[in-house]
Amino acid sequence: MENLLNRFIRYCKINTRSNEKSNTVPSSENQVVFAKMLTQELVDLGFDEVIYNPENGFVSATVKSNVDHEVDTIGFIAHYDTADFNSENIQPRVIENYDGSPIVLNEASGLISDPLLFPHLKELVGHTLIVTDGNTLLGADDKAGVVEIIEAMLILKNNPDLKHGEIRIAFGPDEEIGRGANLFDASNFRAKFAYTLDGAKRGELEYESFNAAAATIELHGVSVHPGTAKDKMINCAKLAMEFDALLPANEVPEHTEHYEGFYLLHDMETTIDHGKMTYIIRDHDKAKFLARKERMLKNANYLNEKYGAERFVVKMKDSYYNMREVIEKDMKPVELAKKAMVACDIEPIIQPIRGGTDGSKISFMGIPTPNLFTGGGNYHGPYEYASLDDMQKAVEVIVKLVQLNAEV
Ligand SMILES: [Zn+2]
Repeated sequence: MENLLNRFIRYCKINTRSNEKSNTVPSSENQVVFAKMLTQELVDLGFDEVIYNPENGFVSATVKSNVDHEVDTIGFIAHYDTADFNSENIQPRVIENYDGSPIVLNEASGLISDPLLFPHLKELVGHTLIVTDGNTLLGADDKAGVVEIIEAMLILKNNPDLKHGEIRIAFGPDEEIGRGANLFDASNFRAKFAYTLDGAKRGELEYESFNAAAATIELHGVSVHPGTAKDKMINCAKLAMEFDALLPANEVPEHTEHYEGFYLLHDMETTIDHGKMTYIIRDHDKAKFLARKERMLKNANYLNEKYGAERFVVKMKDSYYNMREVIEKDMKPVELAKKAMVACDIEPIIQPIRGGTDGSKISFMGIPTPNLFTGGGNYHGPYEYASLDDMQKAVEVIVKLVQLNAEV
């Protein structure tokens, strides 16, 4: 049987980069190719109910219960797309028994993964690491999650003495462009609760995410020949600066951490005549999140009144919400994950995610879905790596978790 490392390297090499500019589902043809290959492999490995759903891009399958009593169905979910970074010709390299020194990723370009810059590497001394050749990302986010779920299921299937209830697994597209879970079919997934395997370092267990929205501000100016512009010209570039200056200067990503929310001016383009700004708004706290959105509108109103015209038109769209709102109603999934980690000699690291996961959406579809570590790190770029030892730990946690869930 193929082992965890070989399957991981094989999957990483397949380009599954998602494409924000595309409107198809999945957003890129290479994801469809991967999903269909994965579907066939799950069939060949003897999984039940293996389905590729072309409407949402999810590959799902079932491992049947092997106990007589009633047990809650658990789901495990990972995304198979990778982030918006070069994914052509990914060449994973294995470093055995890592010694803690700087890792030369690419001799020619001089790209080095240095523990001085990435202190977490120091915790991985003695591990087997998988790194890139410095030209691409690795795709451990989230191929690590995909292979860990498959490996854990194979262990269960091959060891009937390990007792568990029904398990549902799903692998989805386009998480990195924020849409993968939008079309997730929660009603047919049947799980009482689920976990995404989409975290990073060993022990991470997350059930709080941001509340998230995007705001676009259309700017309407007045373009007049500069020579005769006195008291007539209204320059959108100036309007944009004025709007941004009304937001608190310290509530931006580069000055916030932990539970602190922010406004991020993500992009803007203006001529004198017209312009457009895009912000993203983030806060763990629902009330503060709503207040931030309100503030955008208030600022626009204030400026529109000042100019006596609709110079600022704000449009806002919510992206996802803090899954804690759903999960804290019944903490069983979190408690179970904690217990499983402790049983595997792992200290749970519970922290709020400064972002969202597929679980942020799936939780609000009625399936509480916290997030578990995968053993990867430095995602979305050439410094990305995975620790095979921590990946193995993630597999153990899944296996232990479903056993604990089946205990009477
Ligand atoms: Zn991810």
